[in-house]
Amino acid sequence: MTSAPASAAGVCVRVPAKVNVELRVGPPRADGFHPVATVYQAVSLYDTVWVTPAADWSVELSGRTTSGVPADDSNLAVRAAMELAKAAGVRERAVVHIGKEIPVAGGMAGGSADAAAALVACNRLWGLDWGIERLEPIAARLGSDIPFLLHGGTALGSGRGEQVVPALTRGTYHWVFALSHGGLSTPAVYAECDRLRGSSLVPDPQPSPQLLSALRSGDVVGVAALLANDLQAAAVSLHPGLGEVLDAGLRFGALGGIVSGSGPTIAFLAAGHEAALDLAVALTASGTAADVRRAVGPTVGAHVDVVAGA
Ligand code: ATP
Repeated sequence: MTSAPASAAGVCVRVPAKVNVELRVGPPRADGFHPVATVYQAVSLYDTVWVTPAADWSVELSGRTTSGVPADDSNLAVRAAMELAKAAGVRERAVVHIGKEIPVAGGMAGGSADAAAALVACNRLWGLDWGIERLEPIAARLGSDIPFLLHGGTALGSGRGEQVVPALTRGTYHWVFALSHGGLSTPAVYAECDRLRGSSLVPDPQPSPQLLSALRSGDVVGVAALLANDLQAAAVSLHPGLGEVLDAGLRFGALGGIVSGSGPTIAFLAAGHEAALDLAVALTASGTAADVRRAVGPTVGAHVDVVAGA
């Protein structure tokens, strides 16, 4: 459900979280970023971002997961709105109200989602009518996952993850997410990955052709068997309780489980709707996770939900 700010004039955009069905990470590049080959999927956990015309920029927060989200100009959604204003030569300002449901610092790209939503919302609010291809360079400058959240669906990400090509999939994937107490910093997880790898030779990251074929044919068992995340060992090393959560989910009937992105959220793939319900109930009852959420993928990227008059 869309949570409206006090003044509901303006534009509301709904934006999903993401899971990395596969995340392959290469050795760090000269600019410090790691090249990745990833298969993103947008899942039905949504934040909403309302933008309302105002005399100055500000951020308002509501919803389930606001702890740790900055309420000043460092918020990625406001930064995205400001960057779009600059790029488009717009002098307007806005209140950016974020209804937060996506876990924070959980490896589900919540901040990136809000930034993508702010771009789409301001694009509409200011009547720019820019296509995704014109918003994408701004998105990519602000964060590697933001371009994907403009697209949604299932997609291959390369470069730092910012180069996105849609991937064909069949069927609906039923995910159960086990949230942890506390988050993990994405740069810290990449640094730990480098530390664990030491001087071993790391190949250029490539997506698995078998996984892409399983996604194309809607083979959920095949997809579950091929879930892969090169950051998993690093996330588990920094957050040792995650191994226990993974074991519990598999014991309770998940077809497969993986650390989501840089963690610490664990994403389990279930055989269908009923199986996902059963798994969520069992995980909740076991007390191994701080919170448990169900979602389906793929779903659409950032999209206008409401346009309201003053
Ligand atoms: P990713 O998977 O893209 O690495 P994440 O899901 O692990 O990201 P986020 O929820 O995006 O993590 O938050 C990472 C940090 O970004 C937060 O700790 C917070 O300080 C900062 N941040 C800035 N803007 C936002 C926002 N709108 N929502 C959440 N966090 C934000």
